[in-house]
Amino acid sequence: MRRVLILGGTAEARALAAELVERGVHVTSSLAGRVRNPRLPAGEVREGGFGGPEGLAAWVRNERPDALIDATHPFAARMTASAVEAARLTGIPLLVLRRPGWPQAPGELRVPSLEAAAAELAVGDRVFLTTGRRSLPIFANLTGVWFLARSVDPPEPPIPRNVHIILDRGPYTLMGELALIDEHRLTVLVTKDSGGELTKAKLAAAGERGLKVIMVDRPPLPGGVTHVETVPAALDWLRDIGAA
Ligand code: NAP
Repeated sequence: MRRVLILGGTAEARALAAELVERGVHVTSSLAGRVRNPRLPAGEVREGGFGGPEGLAAWVRNERPDALIDATHPFAARMTASAVEAARLTGIPLLVLRRPGWPQAPGELRVPSLEAAAAELAVGDRVFLTTGRRSLPIFANLTGVWFLARSVDPPEPPIPRNVHIILDRGPYTLMGELALIDEHRLTVLVTKDSGGELTKAKLAAAGERGLKVIMVDRPPLPGGVTHVETVPAALDWLRDIGAA
């Protein structure tokens, strides 16, 4: 039986796991274990870090999967770097499945980091912040800025003093996002270029209401890595190397 290890935590990772399980492939999906009640993919699931690239390499040597798919979130740069190094150490074929980013909208400001996004905010801004609960400390010291922060699990301190938290995981609708913008009189959207369909309604809503959009760019992929943008393309690659 063919075996594939998927580094997951995304909708694409779950879709790929479902397709492979259906084809009779033995799939192990790996989750970081940070979300309290994660959406679980089909097949076997393991949770928690591997202990760096050496730990992942040891897992690969023990379990002997035929291929490694890094389908982690586009901002999970440490895990991707770790996968590249583990593949180098073990020789396992590695593919990065990374959905495309969102196209830049007219007037949208692109910044290289969360810190740069924070530096763009001004007194009086009312900010829709969708960059994840672990990013809140970066915005904690801004005074005179009000935040509506949305995350899957509750954030831990430090968090901004003037913040209202909503816990949600999407998918989100245009109507829902417009209602949030209107209810909280939001003027700025700060978000990451995660890409994908599930969370993109906020961009259309921000456009409709004329919010300033500050978009954090993705970290670049490591050089030389094989990369596809869709689940069908990942399936083709797995078929080509005889792992599916
Ligand atoms: P990260 O900074 O790249 O990873 C930090 C460490 O967490 C890694 O070195 C690894 O620990 C462990 N880890 C990350 N993903 C893992 C996985 N799929 N399986 C096992 N261990 C994993 O990643 P992150 O940004 O914290 O994201 C963590 C997870 O949440 C990812 O799986 C990602 O797909 C998902 N996610 C992230 C975001 C985001 O905005 N960053 C959004 C949605 C979902 P070891 O070094 O010990 O192996």
